[in-house]
Amino acid sequence: MISPSVCLLCHAPSTTAPLQRGILLVHSCPNCGLNYGETDEASATLEAGSVDTSPHHFSTLLTQSEALAPALAGLVEGRMAAFVERLGEKPRHWLEIGPGSGLLSAIVARHGGSWRGCEIDADMAAEMMARGLDVVQADFSAIDPATLFTPEVAAQGGFDMLFLSQVFEHVRNPDRFLDNAYAALRPGGVIYIDVPNDGGLTAIIRRLNKWGGTYGEVVPPYHMIAYGAKTLGYALEQAGFEKVSVSTAAYNDAVYGLAHARIHRSSKFQTLWTLSGIVGLGGNLVAMAQRPLGGGDAAAC
Ligand SMILES: [Zn+2]
Repeated sequence: MISPSVCLLCHAPSTTAPLQRGILLVHSCPNCGLNYGETDEASATLEAGSVDTSPHHFSTLLTQSEALAPALAGLVEGRMAAFVERLGEKPRHWLEIGPGSGLLSAIVARHGGSWRGCEIDADMAAEMMARGLDVVQADFSAIDPATLFTPEVAAQGGFDMLFLSQVFEHVRNPDRFLDNAYAALRPGGVIYIDVPNDGGLTAIIRRLNKWGGTYGEVVPPYHMIAYGAKTLGYALEQAGFEKVSVSTAAYNDAVYGLAHARIHRSSKFQTLWTLSGIVGLGGNLVAMAQRPLGGGDAAAC
């Protein structure tokens, strides 16, 4: 079994033995507090690429696409005010990493913007390209982000808006990924990230179950890194972003929730999610930050 002895985010060496849950080993970084897991299976996928993804997830996204589209549109409409407040205008040029089935494309177009998706999975990228969507098939961590620039984006020094929802927790090299995110944005450009909240109600319940084979939001084989508010904010500041804000929301929140939760029919889950939001333990961890206008490397927050 390969067991990482250094933190996947800050590279500090681990000083204590990992916690064991079945075949899962969970490390907690003594420096930045990141919780990250390792199993034989996840080690194997790490060899193949820098992202752990599930093909089943993609097929679900495609079959639910029609119902998810209006739900996502409602969420993005609600967030637009926050994006405009940061940018001083509506974002024009958007880059989405891990765009799912590409539903954001039409929403951005309705707001007069341009959208480009960067998708690591070849089949998913091909499916979107066949529908005429502007998608580049690439591992975002492993490329020069300038290769994603259109001439208009290159002329202004990068994208206005970088959007990734429920993607960053799959990325096995978060520091390199965020360096590229910084380089993909123009000075002043905004990054929006949401991930499962390791401090949320679902994570707390999972941590109580010693026999579940998971630990909070470390859920093998696809979620091997679990972020809390502190570690997600730390990751963005380390990459040089400023005006870092991190907040939590219930999965079914009308603005910062998730599209699939908004259309979920189970009243049991809806009640649980609503309750999690009321007590401040929402499952969605939402971060926004900006590349400094000066374009410098140091975080100003
Ligand atoms: Zn660390």
